[in-house]
Amino acid sequence: MFSVIACIRDDHDIRLIFVAAFTCLMGSLATMLLFARAQECRSHQRRYWITAAAFASGVGIWATHFIAMLAYQDSIPITYAVSPTLLSMVFAILGSWLAISVAFEWDNSISFACGGVLMAFGIGAMHFTGMQAIETSAKLSYSLPRIVASVAVGISFASLAFVAFRRLHRVRRIVVGALLLLLAICSLHFTAMSGVALTLETDVPSEALAIDRSILASIVLAAATALILSSLGAIFIDRHLTDLRGFANASLEGLLVLRDGRIIDANERFFTISGWSAQQVVGAVPEAFLTLDLEACTEAAIPLETTLSGRDGKAIPVETVIRSITYRGHECSVLVVRDLTERRRAQQMIEHLAHHDILTDLPNRSLFDQRMRQALQMANRKHGEVAVFCLDLDRFKAINDVFGHAEGDRLLCRVAGILQRVAEEGDTVARLGGDEFAIIQPMRQQPEAATRLAERILVEFAAEMDTARDPTAVGVSLGIAIFPRDGANAEQLYANADTALYRAKRAGRGHACFFDAEMDKAARMRRQLENDLRQAILRKQLYLDYQPIYDVGSDSVSGYEALLRWRHPDRGIIEPETFIPIAEESGSIAAIGEWVLEQACQEAMRWRQPASVAVNLSPLQFMIPTLYDQIERILRKTGLDPRRLELEITEAALMRERTAVLATLQRLHRLGVRVVMDDFGTGFSSLSNLRAFPFDKIKVDRSFTGALEHDPAARSIVRAIIGLGHSLNMPVVTEGVETEIQRRIVIEEGCAQLQGIFFGKPDIGPSQQFPDMDRAAG
Ligand code: C2E
Ligand code: CA
Ligand code: CA
Repeated sequence: MFSVIACIRDDHDIRLIFVAAFTCLMGSLATMLLFARAQECRSHQRRYWITAAAFASGVGIWATHFIAMLAYQDSIPITYAVSPTLLSMVFAILGSWLAISVAFEWDNSISFACGGVLMAFGIGAMHFTGMQAIETSAKLSYSLPRIVASVAVGISFASLAFVAFRRLHRVRRIVVGALLLLLAICSLHFTAMSGVALTLETDVPSEALAIDRSILASIVLAAATALILSSLGAIFIDRHLTDLRGFANASLEGLLVLRDGRIIDANERFFTISGWSAQQVVGAVPEAFLTLDLEACTEAAIPLETTLSGRDGKAIPVETVIRSITYRGHECSVLVVRDLTERRRAQQMIEHLAHHDILTDLPNRSLFDQRMRQALQMANRKHGEVAVFCLDLDRFKAINDVFGHAEGDRLLCRVAGILQRVAEEGDTVARLGGDEFAIIQPMRQQPEAATRLAERILVEFAAEMDTARDPTAVGVSLGIAIFPRDGANAEQLYANADTALYRAKRAGRGHACFFDAEMDKAARMRRQLENDLRQAILRKQLYLDYQPIYDVGSDSVSGYEALLRWRHPDRGIIEPETFIPIAEESGSIAAIGEWVLEQACQEAMRWRQPASVAVNLSPLQFMIPTLYDQIERILRKTGLDPRRLELEITEAALMRERTAVLATLQRLHRLGVRVVMDDFGTGFSSLSNLRAFPFDKIKVDRSFTGALEHDPAARSIVRAIIGLGHSLNMPVVTEGVETEIQRRIVIEEGCAQLQGIFFGKPDIGPSQQFPDMDRAAG
């Protein structure tokens, strides 16, 4: 150690030592900066930076050595042979390259430490080869322990320098790394130099080509300075350019730099969007990839939408805009290419959602209307036909209520599946809301095509929906209207298909009905009546006729049946058989039924005799939960004795919510109201219905009475019913008695009461017949 310090102090010009150290420091700093650059880059670029670092380091070491040698003061003049001088530089560079390559190959602390070791060997190889270049009259001798020691300190510091670079961060790794590398180079050099001894000799062989040491010094210094400065410059320029490129690559838009109409550069994003490579793009004209008018694009204030042909042949929707820039010192334009694929996809999704039902993914009403318009336009042009189907699911509401909405949703999806399966290409199956489905069948031979499709739908429903066993299965009804026969526009067609659907449902479900003009007239009249009926009570157009009921035992009129009439301002008197079903379907039966009850009770109160009054109840009135309270209130209000009131109900009333209906009837029965089974023999005529509830009377339907005279079967039915009534202890009434013969027959069969025009037509009632009573009551 001391001898090394002594060697520096005694044998060297201290000023030149500083120059050497400064050169070394610059070289080391450049090396470390290049290290850092190499580390920032990815593989292929890293190679260049490793090579640059090897050059900076090698030349730095080499220059340090020769400047230090310049500082070496000895009385004997020294020159340098060219080849070993050059060879020493090669060793320094190669050694550095090997060391740095090894360090970066594995890029961990160990590989960096190994790199340091190799670096020291490189410095050593350079040093001793450089020493061989010395040509002097003296003989050089080396001390082996010093050589070993010099390499050892070199290894230590160089490894430390490499590891420090790997471990430390930011400026510190550059500064500390560079200082340790400086120490490695200098300590190796001076330790080795402290073991050098010169002994004068005369016949040292000299190479022909030798350089004077001052010239060499100048060359070395110039070379070192140039190299170090240029590598530092390279780092900064590269960083600047890389950052710019990184900036351009980070952009979401593809960028093409154009000069004189040709592409001179492009960013990564453009390659990603298009799939083309730099080689294919650079040098080409932008029109080769883009459908575009450069001039229009330059002038356009807003981005223009166009397509980019991708490498895979796909047309990519893009929007483009052109901006002027200065690029590499030239006026250039940059063509910005924005990929619209994602935006288009989102747009398509929104459009899809706007036109489709979320649950079933079928077209919704808006798309249905659109398709309908298109289909009609096309049919108009080509004189074709279009069928429109309206579909309705039977029992859907009940399933939704009983099994919940999830089950309802599942069912709707199943139905959508069936319809899509049976529909042909070009047909539109839509869900218009709730359980309302519709189909457009454009441009086919009608009504054959519609008949086939309707059949397929019904068959498929029957196969997939086992309504008999599966409580969550539904049936379907279809109404069909055909353009141009059944309507000139979409609204009319749809309304007519709906009318046909209505008929199909009335035909007993699971049916398909075509629209026809008769149906239309009936439907229109029906709709009109439906509207008029809503006003009928308020406008006092309803009134009751009373038909006497003759009692066989007492040979007198024991009561009257109230029969509803509607005096329509335009159509005159309308029969209940026409308007009651309409009232039932439109729901106005509830109000009308209540009115009838109150009216009948009120009028019966005015009769002189306390005859009974029979009121017909629609099955739908039993759906009113407060029916019992309503009747009780009316009785209280009018003051009619409940025993005078008879309610005529048909078996249909017992079909739905049977227990609730029976409970209501029980309560009414307890109140004293009598209940009559009306129209017996037509519907289910079930004995169990008669047994389930103690009816006060059975009324044989009038259709049997009409047939009694010439149809023995009718007579046996009437006889059976009367027999049944007897066995159940229920008196039997026969209605529709028109003739003496009929009267005789039914009395013979044992009927207790009779009703019919033979005894009296339905008319204004006993209040008119007994004016005295009327006045007394009024
Ligand atoms: P219904 O309950 O069977 O009423 C008896 C029907 O037979 C009445 O017809 C009556 O006019 C008719 N009729 C009476 N005598 C004879 C006869 O000798 N021969 C024949 N062929 N018919 C006779 P109307 O008044 O047209 O009533 C028809 C149906 O309308 C009734 O049948 C009943 O079901 C319903 N209805 C009538 N008024 C009401 C009411 O206020 N409420 C409800 N819900 N339904 C009513
Ligand atoms: Ca009746
Ligand atoms: Ca009847």
